[in-house]
Amino acid sequence: ATEAGGDEMKSVKDYFNTVGFERWEKIYGETEEVNKVQLDIRTGHAKTVSKVINWLKEDGELSKGITVCDAGCGTGSLSIPLALEGASINASDISSAMAGEAEKRCQAALEAAGTTPAVAPKFEANDLESISGKYHTVTCLDVMIHYPQDKADAMITHLASLADDRLIISFAPKTLAYSILKRIGELFPGPSKATRAYLHYEEDVEKALNAAGWKVCRREMTATSFYFSRLLEAKRA
Ligand code: SAM
Repeated sequence: ATEAGGDEMKSVKDYFNTVGFERWEKIYGETEEVNKVQLDIRTGHAKTVSKVINWLKEDGELSKGITVCDAGCGTGSLSIPLALEGASINASDISSAMAGEAEKRCQAALEAAGTTPAVAPKFEANDLESISGKYHTVTCLDVMIHYPQDKADAMITHLASLADDRLIISFAPKTLAYSILKRIGELFPGPSKATRAYLHYEEDVEKALNAAGWKVCRREMTATSFYFSRLLEAKRA
């Protein structure tokens, strides 16, 4: 059901601790059977993740053990491969179910790879607004879709204050075509998605980054049939 404004944080947290957890931990898995739409989203999301990993590998910094804060880590789709590459991971999620699942998957992946990272990856239940500390790189993938622009602006400002060197964020881009698609999607009866999806104008996201003193230096777009995600990397201007 769609809700107008209100307290997104509470409803998003409840969703990702309950039905949303059940739904997304399957989509973000590799083996569990999912329907066609979910498979399309799984494939699209995996592309976003691999684009981020490729950027970081290109820069040759992962093996140096850089600190990464992965805000809204979900089941660890990004945190885990980064931990395997040698980054020092501080991952958190507003949903304790998600953070717990990510930790479990990370331990299993490290064991399977026979790797013991120099610094043990940390997973905790925390909303990104409450994260503190300083990190070489801050990542936040596909989280802003749950919030309207004013909240997304505040998130960007806070995440920017945590990053020393680099900020990597992704969001569902607001273009005419996607707005129409979203509208059509909302007209179809179907299982309640329980949270509203917000699209963001790239211009607005960039404005918030610029206001925080950052400038976009790399851009990517991933679009499958049901998954749309604009990926930006920003550095201090
Ligand atoms: N970033 C992960 C990935 O790309 O695999 C997960 C993306 S999932 C669509 C969105 C995640 O954001 C959920 O796990 C949700 O619990 C989390 N989330 C939503 N609002 C949040 C907030 N305010 N602070 C931290 N995490 C949040």
